[in-house]
This record gives sequence, structure tokens and C-alpha cells, in this order.
Amino acid sequence: MQKLVLVLLVLFGSFSLTSAQNIKSPSDFLGYEIGTQFSRHHQVIDYFKSVANTVPNQVKLETYGKTNERRGLYLAFVSSEANIENLETIRENNLKNVYAERSQSTGLLDGEPSSTDIAIVWLSYNVHGNEASSTEASMLTLYKLLTEQQDLLKNTVVIIDPSVNPDGRDRYVNWYNETKSTAYDIDRQASEHNEPWPGGRPNHYLFDLNRDWVWATQVETQQRLAVYNKWMPHVHVDFHEQGINEPYYFAPAAEPFHEIITDWQRDFQTQIGKNHAKYFDAEGWLFFTRERFDLLYPSYGDTYPTFMGAMGMTYEQGGHGMAGLGILNDEGHVLTLVERLTHHTTTGISTVEMASKNAQKLNSEFGKFFNNSNSNYKSYVVNGNEDKLNRLKVLLNTHNIRFENPTSTKVSGFDYATGQQGSLSVDGSAMVVHSDQPKGKMVKVLFEPNTMLSDSLTYDITAWSLPYAYGLDAIASTSKVSSNKLAKRKSLQTLNDAYGYVSKWNSMEDAKFLAELLKEDFKVRFTEKPFTSKDKKFERGSLIITKGDNKHIEKMLSKLNAIAQDHAQPLTEIYSGFSQNTPDIGSPDIKLVNKQKVAILSGNGTSSLSYGEIWHFFEQQLHYPLTSINTDDFSNTNLDKYNVLILPNGYYGDVLNDDNMTKLKTWVSAGGKVIAIDGALRSFAGKEGFNLNFKPSEDVDNVEKNKNLTAYADRERESSNDLITGAIFNAKVDHTHPMAFGYDDNYFTLKLGSSAYRLLDNGYNVAYLKDTEVYSGFAGKKALQKLDDTLIFGEERMGNGSFIYMVDNPLFRSFWENGKLFLVNAIFFVNNNAYEL
Ligand SMILES: [Zn+2]
Repeated sequence: MQKLVLVLLVLFGSFSLTSAQNIKSPSDFLGYEIGTQFSRHHQVIDYFKSVANTVPNQVKLETYGKTNERRGLYLAFVSSEANIENLETIRENNLKNVYAERSQSTGLLDGEPSSTDIAIVWLSYNVHGNEASSTEASMLTLYKLLTEQQDLLKNTVVIIDPSVNPDGRDRYVNWYNETKSTAYDIDRQASEHNEPWPGGRPNHYLFDLNRDWVWATQVETQQRLAVYNKWMPHVHVDFHEQGINEPYYFAPAAEPFHEIITDWQRDFQTQIGKNHAKYFDAEGWLFFTRERFDLLYPSYGDTYPTFMGAMGMTYEQGGHGMAGLGILNDEGHVLTLVERLTHHTTTGISTVEMASKNAQKLNSEFGKFFNNSNSNYKSYVVNGNEDKLNRLKVLLNTHNIRFENPTSTKVSGFDYATGQQGSLSVDGSAMVVHSDQPKGKMVKVLFEPNTMLSDSLTYDITAWSLPYAYGLDAIASTSKVSSNKLAKRKSLQTLNDAYGYVSKWNSMEDAKFLAELLKEDFKVRFTEKPFTSKDKKFERGSLIITKGDNKHIEKMLSKLNAIAQDHAQPLTEIYSGFSQNTPDIGSPDIKLVNKQKVAILSGNGTSSLSYGEIWHFFEQQLHYPLTSINTDDFSNTNLDKYNVLILPNGYYGDVLNDDNMTKLKTWVSAGGKVIAIDGALRSFAGKEGFNLNFKPSEDVDNVEKNKNLTAYADRERESSNDLITGAIFNAKVDHTHPMAFGYDDNYFTLKLGSSAYRLLDNGYNVAYLKDTEVYSGFAGKKALQKLDDTLIFGEERMGNGSFIYMVDNPLFRSFWENGKLFLVNAIFFVNNNAYEL
């Protein structure tokens, strides 16, 4: 018997040993020394597959989705044999630590042990596609964990995402591989160091996935969060790269920290940083900590995990899309890919080491994080448009945040609309979100009216409060508002034969419904004035689909019914064109919506982020066709094929030369419509034939400016007086203008910069700032001074056409839900020339 055990042990032991020995190194597998070539995404995945096949008892490779360009998204679960066998139990135990009922005093679980002994570490590589050393490092990290660092895996599950953004990575790598010289050129002027527009950083729709964690507008994020929230790791690292002259950056992060970040999270960041420093010091490598990358905006790969209880960290290697395989930097150093990936591998392993050493503490502190009985605001109540509430519910579900219906009809507390104490009457569709729930810290981050700023110098926007972003009324209450489970939605009635059907117009759901009808060749009208029919008042913008207009559509009623059901769009039947209160349905004030042909400029000069936001908006949200025209081709473009031309944020100095400007004006005068967003307005402000003008800063500080005695060391901080880095303002709205149909007379706008334009003397000021006051976020005092009486959205007519100005970008990162209808209105309703091309 003893002999048998011995034989088994030997067999088993030697089997394991052989398996580990059989793992090919990345260099052996790829056929080149790692770091001497960039590996394409499929090669990286092939390496992970091969390792998982070699040691299936230690590596489980799972696909969690696909990108827009159909590349696979993968996670490798790496641990000891015993842990891999128990993977599902480990995951479930960890979730118990998040969701279990807690005793309010200790924050510990009732009647259960406070922790397990397994640390869960999630390593995310290459979220920015052209920061390409990290995916190479993911392969070497996997190899080292399974060969040199087996001990760490005894109490650690390491989850490796080798490429968060494969579309962006391959855009960079394919471009680099086809451009580079052999072996490579270290001269930074060489084309291999200068990526063409739009570069490999963003995903297919040119979104920055490292700004998308909370808003989850992109498929990569949506699919990742589904797994992330099933696992809830204790440590998350996002691997990045910065400029070629920077050394390495790692935790601890810079101020401002969001106030919900716990002392333990701060402290452990420092411990991890010191562990990395030990390895960097031993090699004499340079690094810096505690500067530049802060922890405030919740949509990053470091903040989101942090606000979900983990140690969320960003590591930045010098390199980036410029570096290629090797480049000579300003310090006379040839920075190579080998060096870059070695650093990332070192911090990756060092992170796992620290997690393994502190596994128990990580678990117990992680559990405490989810006790949220001490929040100042106990409940957030939101009320308003049902479509908007539903959109918000989708977002909350993405993060497993719970919500209910309030039981009372009136709630009081901080009123978001006035910025003061007040009360709000709520109806049956209202929603209450309590902060005393496992994800309560994230609730606070997302809902509280004003984020506390320990420092105004931050890397990103300072305001994002959801009620403002979604255009909902809200109250933040310091006492818990009573609530019960959500009522189910009523199903829609089937439509009967009628003279016509009317739809409300105040949400993106209505806009999508219109887009679908137009694509299906329905004739749809919209009203420029409110009217009453069947005792019901229909507001400006309401859509009217009459039987008479749509005789060309076969089985019109059943088709309309199907589209309405599909969009969950309630329609009101009307039985006559004679309205109780005018206009009648045949009135000139009720106009046909033109099936607009929309084009957009892309390429050099345009902001790829802004272009991507609009591209994604048309294809993935509105579902309406959009023709993209490269700015290089603009002088040869026949604009007469389009009704609308969108100019994303950008700099059009080269594109809109004298000839092209004349061409644009001629087209607009003949009935075309230009929608200019953000920086695109600079092309028209102060130019001949335009009413649009910049509003310069006041001259009050001129004396000081001429002899600026601000000390060198204080200049950066001083300059924040001129800054607005994403703050929320309350704009006045002329909702009788078609661009504002569906809005009321206030709109909370997210202002991203301090550029300001005067109100239009000769045009329509659709949304504007009056007595400017910041509702949420940071705005420097000088920047603030010049915002009074400035334009947010406006229309200027030229001949038969229009220039539409959007000073604030309504599609910024696609999360400011309440701005989107302005753009749809601008496309379909403003200066509506109902002619077919
Ligand atoms: Zn990055």
C-alpha cells in the first residue's frame, strides 16, 4: 500500500513537473525573442491557448465576448491545481464577502468567517491599443507565474486579460509592422514613430476604453463588466504607457483621491509601491509615484475597481505609440520594447507577490468595504421621464446596484434642480437608490450632487452626477426613504384603425422610434406647436403618423404596430385631423420630417474621439445611416447629396481654406445644414458672413498679467484659475425652438472647457448661460467670470440653410444622456426643409 502511494506520488509529482517543463516560453512559441517584434492579437491568444492546453490543471482560458471587429476577448485564470479545481467555490465565497448581510457595528459578516485565504488579482493589459508593450508583458508574466513563481499561486488566483482592446492593438501593430524599417530606426522622425489618424489608442468606435468603465457604452466594457462583477477581484492593475521621456510610474496614486477611498486602500497602495521600488532599485531603474495620476473620475481602470473595493492601480511605462521597437529619447537613451515589457512584467509579478503575502488581510478589508451604513445621504430619489429612468436602470444593473420604488409621494432633501433644500412630488415610476447596500460607495460616487475635491488639479472631469446627466429630477435625502420592490411595466395595447397615431417626443427612445420609421419609409410629421386632440395635449415635437400619409406602405397598421411594440413606444390614436385646440393635423405648423441624408467629416483635423462618439451614436444608438467623408477628400466632395453635414470637435484650419469655406457657405445658402461641435466653432467665429463671436476674458487682470509675479513653483496651480475641467452648469433653454423640442426651460450642461461665445445677435440662442453658477464640479474663478451671457446651443441662418452651433459637446463619452436629443432635433427638426434630394 505504502509502495502504491509512493508510486502515485512519484507519478503525480513527475507529471506536474513535466507539465510545467513542457510550457513553452513566449520566445520559443512565437519563434522570435519576445520584445524583438510586436505580436498580433491572434498570436498572443494562440500562446495563451497553448499554455492552457499544456497545463489545463493550472490555467483556464475563457472567452468573454467579441469586439466590434469580431476579435475574441479572453481571460486566463491562473492558479494552483487545487484552486483551479475549486475555482467556482472561490468565486462564490468571494461574492458572499461582498453581498452578505453585515453587522453594522463591525462590518463583518454575521455568523460566517470574515475571509477566505485566497487573493484574487486581475491584470488588464493594453486597454490603450498603441501602449503595446503590456500585451507582450502579459505573455511573459503568465510564463513566469507558472515556472518561477508557482509558490505565489498557492493562495492567489490571477486573472489575466492579455488585451482589453484587441481592435486598437491590432490597428497599431499592423500599422507598425507594415511601416517599420528593418531592424528598426531609432530616429523619432521616422514614419514608424508617427502614427496616422486616428492611432491605435481607442477601440473600433474610437472610444477611450479607459474612460468607459462606469458608462459602459462600448461592447468591450459591457462584456468585461459582466465577468468583473461576477468575480469582484481584490486587486486590479491597468497597464499603460506614457511619453518616451518618462520613466515608470506606479502606485501610490496622486491626489485628489475620492473621499470614499479607505485608509487601508491608501496604505496598501504604498506597500505595493514600495515592493515594486525594491525591484526597480536593485536594477537601478527610474520610476516615480504619487504624482499625476489621481483617483477621482470613476470611469478609469484604477478608480472603478477602487470604488468596487479593490486595490485599483495604473502602471505607466515610458513608450506609447511613438516608441516602436526602439527609439532615442531626449535623455540620449535608446528605449526598447524589450526594456518596456520587462518593467511591466516586473511590476505584474511584484503585485501578485504582495497580494499573496497579504491574502488574508486583503479579504477581510475587502469585506469591510461593502459595509455602507454610514453614508451622509441615505437615499437618492429620482423621478421623471420613464424612458430616461429605464436607461438609468440599465446602467445600475450593469454594476449590480439595487433600486426600488419609493412608497411615499413626496420626498424632501437636497433638490438637484435648485441646488438647495427642497421637496419633490414623485409618481409610481420614481426610483429610489439607497446607499446602504453592498455597492453603496459607488452609489455615492455616481449620485451625490457634488464630489468633494481635495485638490482641483485633476486629470479629468470633476462632475458627473447621474441625475444631471440623465435629465431627471432628484432628491438626496439624509434619512432613508421607505421603498418597496419595483412594479412591473405594463404591456402595450395593440393599435386600432384610426386617422393617425401620435407619439410623445422627449427621449432617445422616441428618437430611435422615429429613425426606424424613416428607414422603413414611413411619412412622419412633427408639430411645431402644442395641440390638443381627444382631450390630450401633445407638446412640441410630438410625432404624428397618419393613415393618409402612409398609403404606400403595405399592411401599414400591422407594420406600425410591430415597430411600436419593438420600441415599447406608446402611441395615442386620433380619429380626426380636426384638433380640439389648433393646429389641426393638416396645419403648416405640423410638418413632414425629411428623411435626412447625413454626412460627417472624419480624418485629419477632426478629433477622433468626437468623430467616434457621433459614429457610434448613429450606428449603435440611433440606428440611422451616416456617411463618413475624409477631410482630405472634402474639396472634391459633392455636398448636394446630403442635407446635413456634421463637423465634430476639431481644428479645420487646413480643411476650411477659402475655397472650401465658399463651397460650404454656398451649400448652406441653398438649404444645407452644418452642425458644428465644440472646437469646430472656431472655424466660423469672427469670420466674414458669420454672426458667431468669441467672448474674450475680461481685462480686469491685465495689470497683474503684465508683471506676473507668481512664483515658478506656483504657476501650475495658478493656471487652474483659467480652467474648467468638466463641470455642470444650469443653462436656460428656449424650448419653443425646434432644437429644444422635448426639453423644458432648463438644461444641465457639462462644460468641458473655458472657451466662450457671445450670444447671437442675429440668430437663435437655444440654450445659454445667464447668471453663471457652478452646480457641480470645479471651475476656476477667471474662467467663470466670462461665462455669463454665453452661448451653449444656437442656430444661425444663412440663405435657406443653417449653421447649428453646439458649444458643449452633447455626446461627450456618450454618457451625458440628456444632451443627445438636442443633436437629433438639430438633424431632423431645425429649419426643416421637407424636400427630397
Ligand atoms: Zn494608457
